[in-house]
Amino acid sequence: MAVEIEAFQKISKQADAHGARLVAVSKTKPASDILTLYEAGQRMFGENYVQELLGKHPVLPGDIAWHFIGHLQRNKVKYIAPFVSMIQTVDSLPLLQEINKQARKAERTIDCLVEVHIAREDSKYGVSEADLLEMVEKVQAAPGEYTHVRLRGLMGMATFTDDIKVVQGEFRNLKTISERVRARFGELSASFTELSMGMSADYEWALEEGSTLIRVGSRLFGARV
Ligand SMILES: *Cc1c(COP(=O)(O)O)cnc(C)c1O
Repeated sequence: MAVEIEAFQKISKQADAHGARLVAVSKTKPASDILTLYEAGQRMFGENYVQELLGKHPVLPGDIAWHFIGHLQRNKVKYIAPFVSMIQTVDSLPLLQEINKQARKAERTIDCLVEVHIAREDSKYGVSEADLLEMVEKVQAAPGEYTHVRLRGLMGMATFTDDIKVVQGEFRNLKTISERVRARFGELSASFTELSMGMSADYEWALEEGSTLIRVGSRLFGARV
């Protein structure tokens, strides 16, 4: 299936109109498809698997901002830390510590989002609001320790359903949680501004609810097999 340039232009415009940015989710798609979208102007790409990202990164332009959006194992952080732009799926303090350690080794600072569980399904990853608050509290209490990561906000995935009310409610919930973090940790509020929510099926609702990063794959690259 060909890359959907018209859909790309439409979705980019929609994101722009809401002050949000598009992360083109390219998992399972070849580097040539990524290059097609790159040549159309896209710079942020999202990948879910470390091995796959390691195969694509060296053969594609160096100014691509790679967002890691899959479940990340601690022992694999070292492979992506030298170049990844943002890790959207931080779901534990030990993972954040490992990212910090590997970013320091690579002499970089990595932007991170905490993945929050907002869906009804329990198959999805992510932390509860209580775990999130505890995590942020520990990070804020040890400013000398987390020098090579920046907590930039939250990421969430809505329930897979046609029920717009359910999805809207979950996006709204993520935004509310983010506002509570900012209210409680005032020193964070200037930088804790990203809200990564919305995929091919629900990005328009996510934009309405204040998403700053939409993660769209199949609408741009066609269905995955
Ligand atoms: C695959 C994936 C997406 C993109 O999904 P589409 O429905 O193809 O747009 C977005 N976010 C995450 C976390 C994903 O794994």
